[in-house]
Amino acid sequence: MDLHLDESTVLLYKSNSQKIRVISEKWFEKNMYCPNCGNPKIQRADNNKPVADFQCNNCDQIFELKSKNGSLGAKIVDGAYSTMIERITSASNPDLFLLQYSEKYDITDLTLIPKFFFVPDIIEKRKQLALTAKRAGWVGCNILLCGIPEQCKISVIIKQLIQNRQDVISSYNRIKKLKIDSIDNRGWLLDVLNCVESIDKREFCLKDVYEFTEKLQKKHIHNKNVEAKIRQQLQFIRDKGFIEFLGKGRYRKLF
Ligand SMILES: [Zn+2]
Repeated sequence: MDLHLDESTVLLYKSNSQKIRVISEKWFEKNMYCPNCGNPKIQRADNNKPVADFQCNNCDQIFELKSKNGSLGAKIVDGAYSTMIERITSASNPDLFLLQYSEKYDITDLTLIPKFFFVPDIIEKRKQLALTAKRAGWVGCNILLCGIPEQCKISVIIKQLIQNRQDVISSYNRIKKLKIDSIDNRGWLLDVLNCVESIDKREFCLKDVYEFTEKLQKKHIHNKNVEAKIRQQLQFIRDKGFIEFLGKGRYRKLF
């Protein structure tokens, strides 16, 4: 895997964002493997689609690539809000690859976020474009990366260190166990995972998670029994092997 983005082929492009899109897509097509099945290549999907997608021709998994100069920060700008909301609720929603590069066009990080962690909660509606703008009235969105638990983000490259391919494939397949189709349940799972993640110790008890009850109640105002919902999610996370039940309301993180 060569970590340099080759800008020599796009010198004629005027727009920097277009330049980056072209060279990062080229790099991705040449270097990235399928994290789902291990196929050594992922190909560009149909060019007529509104978003530049890639697809594995072995397992049909779809991926979207986004690139950013420097650190990712808490949110990343995406396309139209309505398209995004429509997409996250459909089966054709792609997994998201986030590529970070330096001023010198060197790739520093590549992170994969599986599609099943996308919930409406992490999609922030941006302000409607002014009437004077070219696309007046258009509403874009941001993806709130901070709303996705760290353990649900798979690193392919960290600070220019290329992670072992087999480890990436194993991580992806392990995380895939958390896949839930219902958007509502997906939200609950992310919420409880985020709570567990923010508990600053490896072993914790039910009481530690109940500390978040008020916060979760505010988010799920119609739910009448938040504590029961917390227990249900903990059981799910335990069944999928991400935490271990030690008895007497005690748990251990396995991530
Ligand atoms: Zn594949």
